[in-house]
Amino acid sequence: DLPHLAETDATAKALGYVEDASKTTDPKRKAGDTCANCQFYSGGPTGFGPCQLFPGKAVSAKGWCVSHAPKK
Ligand code: SF4
Repeated sequence: DLPHLAETDATAKALGYVEDASKTTDPKRKAGDTCANCQFYSGGPTGFGPCQLFPGKAVSAKGWCVSHAPKK
């Protein structure tokens, strides 16, 4: 399993990544957006999985960052 991406990681911070999307105060987040429904995420609906933007790390299915783009 990949190590979990830390919110304190420099790139994670730059993109406003949070492990729990409901905890962000960033106005750019649209209601319902999470890593699980982002096109850069390739993990399952729960737990942690890979994100193309963070190679070698796993992000939280219920996480979020400013680069969120809906799955197509
Ligand atoms: Fe989550 Fe998508 Fe941001 Fe990756 S790009 S951390 S999957 S919201």
